[in-house]
Amino acid sequence: MTDEVRNVIIIGSGPAGYTAGLYSARALLEPLMFAGYMSGGQLMLTSDIENFPGYPEGIGGPEMMIQLREQAEKFGLEVQDKNVERVDFSEKPFKVWVEGEEFRSKSVIICTGAESIWLGAEGEEEQKGRGISTCATCDGAFFREQEVLVIGGGDSAMEEATFLTRFASKVTLLHRRDVFKASKVMYERALNNPKIEIKTFKTVRSWLSDETGLSGAVLEDPRDGSTEEISCTGAFIAIGHKPITNFLEEQVETDEAGYILAKTHTMTSVDGVFAAGDVVDTRYRQAITAAGMGCQAAIDAEKWLEDQH
Ligand code: NDP
Repeated sequence: MTDEVRNVIIIGSGPAGYTAGLYSARALLEPLMFAGYMSGGQLMLTSDIENFPGYPEGIGGPEMMIQLREQAEKFGLEVQDKNVERVDFSEKPFKVWVEGEEFRSKSVIICTGAESIWLGAEGEEEQKGRGISTCATCDGAFFREQEVLVIGGGDSAMEEATFLTRFASKVTLLHRRDVFKASKVMYERALNNPKIEIKTFKTVRSWLSDETGLSGAVLEDPRDGSTEEISCTGAFIAIGHKPITNFLEEQVETDEAGYILAKTHTMTSVDGVFAAGDVVDTRYRQAITAAGMGCQAAIDAEKWLEDQH
């Protein structure tokens, strides 16, 4: 433990975290960020971002995160690529433990985002990393000229399916109903791709495997319970995300799904602890909205720190 008490510790390094870092660094608060072992958040797993204003040609997710980090570091954000293990918000200054080391801070901004949800179908655990993945950008290239499945009906599923057509010979997109949460433009891009077949009213009951790994799935029609088999060597689950809040051990109020509840602007139930981005957001979940919230949280933290004097 050092005697130092920081003004702001930022936990998490997606667009919310880096924007909070940029603003608090420019406010001369000398922020310290714990970016996690896999810094950059979910956008590190995204291929092209076409809807962030200012990039008419689009930009790769990892490229954007590197630029956001460089911009914040230029103004003095200190970044450590480590995970926060636990926190103690019961008294001030707040305590944050990282690899067993204790850090103290007057305020904290939580920007830990969300992680992929798995289906939990029979046989899934055994095939994780052997054919079943939640990240087409990471694993798609392993499935050149192979037949793969994508599960989900939102933008993530459409994006993954479209991306996978670069490698796979055929992509079958399975959705549990016939109404799609995906935006029209992304749905139609998938629908019009000759390598993608969309099948509605299909859920995965169990995964099938042979000695080489994943070999297929048993699908169920949720309307009548009828089943069929489909063969595939790869499957990508894109059914949404859950917020990363376990390390908080319920010290900050959340909703039932674990999303942090904002009480006053971006301040949480703990005075001096702020939250921004997907860890709070059950509605928008966009890079641009996360970045906007990161800015709000940094301004809120700055004003709150001023009021403490
Ligand atoms: P969504 O919540 O939008 O969609 C999840 C999909 O998975 C839904 O179709 C849902 O079905 C289905 N699903 C959920 N649970 C199950 C289950 N147990 N079994 C089968 N299917 C299931 O999540 P996304 O990750 O797609 O998107 C999250 C946010 O990120 C959205 O706001 C989206 O716009 C954004 N995004 C934007 C992108 C872009 O613009 N480039 C790219 C990717 C995401 P049902 O409809 O029946 O509930």
